[in-house]
Amino acid sequence: MIDLYQYKVAWCPFCDQGWVVIAKELNTGELYLFCEECELEWDDPKNITKNNSTRDKYGRITVPSIEEIREKGWEDYIIKDPYMCDAKILEISDFSEDKLWNEYAEKMKIGNYPVDSRLITFEVDDTLLTARGVAYKKWMPSMIGKSIKINNYFVSLGDIEKTELSEKGIFQIRDNAYSITGDILEINENGMTFIIDCGNIITLAKRYSGLNDIKVGDRVHVDIGEYYIYNMEFEYEREDRSS
Ligand SMILES: [Zn+2]
Repeated sequence: MIDLYQYKVAWCPFCDQGWVVIAKELNTGELYLFCEECELEWDDPKNITKNNSTRDKYGRITVPSIEEIREKGWEDYIIKDPYMCDAKILEISDFSEDKLWNEYAEKMKIGNYPVDSRLITFEVDDTLLTARGVAYKKWMPSMIGKSIKINNYFVSLGDIEKTELSEKGIFQIRDNAYSITGDILEINENGMTFIIDCGNIITLAKRYSGLNDIKVGDRVHVDIGEYYIYNMEFEYEREDRSS
């Protein structure tokens, strides 16, 4: 396993589930980009859109060195993630249906076909949390007991409101559903993605409608947030995907 996280360049515009990362095709030594979740491919980091992707154009891959990336002129596209944390995996469930998300997606009429995925219980900064594992193929029971780097985020399934609550924190409702109180550190342009400081954890959160009247610095309460994690470790060489 090797850490690829320093070579991600964009959040996938197609599946909205994974990072687009820099890879190197073994046979040709050519650098390209692909989404680690849906496996769509791109030739150029300047031009990662839904419409110009390819599939199975490239064969066996490996991780390029930073020198190779530099030589190609792609170093500046690499995203450094300040919200990554170390976590110890304690438990990985069998595949199960994400019922909470299914109900919400149906209610809100949003896409993203659900797949069976695993619930991951992990410890981060002495806090025990349960999240649904994104990039679901990667969460193997053999990872139990291991320490890995993870990214975590909430998807708001309920209301987000300003609050007078003095305690920050995240409180488990059931499985990977949490009630969250924290301070907004950043909001992106469309108001749908934000960084929230929940006290012991700073995490990304997403919402499928804009935040009304909420600005950076506000303390907010998120009624229900479904918690997800993904990790950035990656097999060094993958099987030939084009066969
Ligand atoms: Zn994708």
